[in-house]
Amino acid sequence: MTKPTQIDHIAIATHSIDESLKFYENALGLQAAHIEELPDRGIRVAMLPIGEATIELIEPLHDKSEVSGFLAKRGGGIHHIALRTPDVDENVSQLKDKGVRLTADEAAPGAHDCRVAFIHPKASGGVLLELTTPPERSE
Ligand code: ZN
Repeated sequence: MTKPTQIDHIAIATHSIDESLKFYENALGLQAAHIEELPDRGIRVAMLPIGEATIELIEPLHDKSEVSGFLAKRGGGIHHIALRTPDVDENVSQLKDKGVRLTADEAAPGAHDCRVAFIHPKASGGVLLELTTPPERSE
């Protein structure tokens, strides 16, 4: 059975990455290593590495983005937790076999060229869980 091996990132929804960075960079001393727009998902993300994991700030690009509803309902806060796994496609098929509810039928491209899938919060006790597999690095 394919299983997740570590926390990859914790994603925090924010109305403004620039505003949030004032706290994470100035107050905590973390640094955004990478900022990327994902127009397909209607979001902009900033990655702040911390140890082996990353804090991912997510800002909506417009009011139909995947975090707009969350921000409208709850304001900013933890949006999802991502678990790194060696083969997200394998996880998706295992989860489907077990009848676990996912937010989509297949894994899809995510930030940073990862492949990602999301487990519905109703299946995991209220937390949106992302499974993510980093791209193969050929060196
Ligand atoms: Zn994520």
